[in-house]
Amino acid sequence: MSSPHQTAIVSACLLGVPCRHDGRDKRHEGLLAALSARGLAIVPFCPEVAGGLPIPRAAAFLEGNRVVDADGCDVTAEFEQGAQTALAAARLHGATLAVLKENSPSCGSHTIGTRRGLEPGRGRTAAKLRAAGLEVRGEEGTW
Ligand code: SF4
Repeated sequence: MSSPHQTAIVSACLLGVPCRHDGRDKRHEGLLAALSARGLAIVPFCPEVAGGLPIPRAAAFLEGNRVVDADGCDVTAEFEQGAQTALAAARLHGATLAVLKENSPSCGSHTIGTRRGLEPGRGRTAAKLRAAGLEVRGEEGTW
């Protein structure tokens, strides 16, 4: 999949950064070592924090073209800012791969959490990076 020195942008929470809405991380044991073993340079990134949202923050959900949090606040602009900043970071570092946390309204690449539970879909940042030509993968699978 990767050639030496390929760069990957990676959801920061997967690498142990406590940037989730609940103030926790989603460290994926072995992911960092596996990516490093493939010769990948890694750029940790959290689009929701980059978009200006605090830690902790209310969970948010995609509702059509909008993003609305559990308190009823429209956070579409913050999510879009985070996605744009993620793309800018990917381009700055020459990233061709994104490894993103599944189930997130920002980072989910196959499933996203909704008010109804998990559903097929793509988060705002995952969609932005994929549209720009990056390979976008979730954290599960063979590394
Ligand atoms: Fe992790 Fe992405 Fe959520 Fe940030 S926005 S906490 S990187 S899943």
